[in-house]
Amino acid sequence: SGRWARAMSILKEFEEKCGTPEGKLKQVADAMTVEMHAGLVSEGGSKLKMLISYVDNLPTGDEDGVFYALDLGGTNFRVLRVQLGGKEGGIVHQEFTEASIPPALMGGTSDALFDYIAEKLAKFVDEEEQMFHQPPGRQRELGFTFSFPVMQTSINSGTLIRWTKGFSINDTVGQDVVAELTNALKRKGVEMRVAALVNDTIGTLAGGRYTNNDVALAVILGTGTNAAYVERAQAIPKWHGPLPKSGEMVINMEWGNFRSSHLPLTEYDHALDVESLNPGEQIFEKLTSGMYLGEILRRVLLKMADEAFFFGGEVPAKLKIPFILRTPEMSAMHHDTSSDLRVVGNKLKDTLDISNTSLKMRRVVVELCNIVATRGARLAAAGILGMLKKMGRDTKSEGGGKTVIAMDGGLYEHYTEYSKCLEYTLNELLGEEAASTISVEHSNDGSGIGAALLAASHSLYL
Ligand code: ADP
Ligand code: MG
Repeated sequence: SGRWARAMSILKEFEEKCGTPEGKLKQVADAMTVEMHAGLVSEGGSKLKMLISYVDNLPTGDEDGVFYALDLGGTNFRVLRVQLGGKEGGIVHQEFTEASIPPALMGGTSDALFDYIAEKLAKFVDEEEQMFHQPPGRQRELGFTFSFPVMQTSINSGTLIRWTKGFSINDTVGQDVVAELTNALKRKGVEMRVAALVNDTIGTLAGGRYTNNDVALAVILGTGTNAAYVERAQAIPKWHGPLPKSGEMVINMEWGNFRSSHLPLTEYDHALDVESLNPGEQIFEKLTSGMYLGEILRRVLLKMADEAFFFGGEVPAKLKIPFILRTPEMSAMHHDTSSDLRVVGNKLKDTLDISNTSLKMRRVVVELCNIVATRGARLAAAGILGMLKKMGRDTKSEGGGKTVIAMDGGLYEHYTEYSKCLEYTLNELLGEEAASTISVEHSNDGSGIGAALLAASHSLYL
């Protein structure tokens, strides 16, 4: 029928506009490399902030003692207690508790957010067992993983540049987030010193390096996306401080804000961006990360419902609600292996109140999931290729070692079709020979443990 043909033409057009042939991905990778250079030359020189992390040494394995970590990066936050065993002792003990951030606090006041976090931390500390108490005269120390763009002023201070991922608390912007946390801890009577302020990418890099010496870059694909890597201090023109002994500095790229004319943007992406809390910002993130993939899918389905009556004469009311279709639901549909695609049918029913979908319709939904996820995963792979180029590790060299990429984040962890596609594409782009020197490792929970490790290596009591 005419309706079906119209729906198919919307699908086909979307698919074409989302195309990511190898040549295009290489252009994206080259643009990433160029922007990395520019961001290292001067503050504001690029869409990529290329933030100096003040981490000039990654964990060695000698870290010792009981440390805390606080991981705030999206919808959930976690508090960890980690006991490090010193030389060759490894991680002796770790425990954590997790809580979600009530949506109201994501758009409220800074004090309200940090009070809420401090309260959860207070409870966790109260439950500390005797054996994890600090030696007399020693304060507890914490690594704070705060995964939003921060201009660091030292290893344990930094001002918030802007919120991302749906947070919007005006009075935090421009403030030192360590001071915000420290003040809240005081208000709640928690005895704790913030020893390190890091981003989840830096934490993941540190946690990855602790277990594997070849880890040189880290990528997060969760609610948002970001990447970090080890740069030669000499190659950072905008760094005017003393050259670190190691000769190295970890850079937090804030690659979520990358954009390039080579990115395959569609009308749906433009509309999503314009209606977002941060229009014009985080374009790469809006194409690749968990907060947005389901929302892109919703927008295409809405267009098909609206213009091709895909779900019948009326547009399903719920389909009009932004962000109602979340990426975990999308991934469940994409992974549906049942012959009648009953998971797709159930998800459409449960999340969108759309019932009586035919198998043919469900197949279209899966196809759309595939288009959105494939584009995101392939672009993420191109971004990684750009980083490897900047690091001079995109080709196999005589005597060159291995390079391991530490990856983490709920999207990477749970959306198998996405992560498989990312790894496949990276190998495709690198070619067989170079690909043989590069591997991807899931750094489970690296960001929290990494923050505890960095708190240990920046302890007052060394
Ligand atoms: P954050 O990025 O908020 O710190 P995570 O790394 O745990 O936290 O990532 C959570 C995000 O991962 C969710 O917002 C969601 O987009 C994505 N995600 C979680 N579970 C799944 C899933 N089963 N399939 C696809 N994406 C998922
Ligand atoms: Mg996280």
